[in-house]
Amino acid sequence: MPSPVSDCIFCKIVRREAPASIIHEDEATLAFLDIRPMIRGHALVIPKAHAASLADLPKESSGPILETARKVAAGLRGSGLRCEAVNLWLADGKEAGQEVFHLHFHVLPRFRGDGFGVRTGPDYGRMPERSELDATATKIRDAMGR
Ligand SMILES: [Zn+2]
Repeated sequence: MPSPVSDCIFCKIVRREAPASIIHEDEATLAFLDIRPMIRGHALVIPKAHAASLADLPKESSGPILETARKVAAGLRGSGLRCEAVNLWLADGKEAGQEVFHLHFHVLPRFRGDGFGVRTGPDYGRMPERSELDATATKIRDAMGR
């Protein structure tokens, strides 16, 4: 049975077994254009080492990914493409919109009137009491310590 790494389209791009329009490459990361761009210049930044989710991402890869995203964002702003602002977006899990299970940041050029929208979550606009915020923070903090 093939491993997830041999089947993974992003791993294939890293190995140059699948085509991509590459923007940046270094020891730990690769950046290339999304083949189904939401907007012109829509780029993806991936760790070269296969990691399906944030939880699987080795600690030494998390910093380089953000640094590459920073460089791509700066490149977009200086490219002459329409880019007045940038969104970084990472979908960690199917319910969050992840479609390729090799972790990736989307780097999205934005401009006034581009038509993007963000639908808000179920709690939008509600201001919980401090005690609720503290209880939620405790749950997350305790899980992080595990
Ligand atoms: Zn992969």
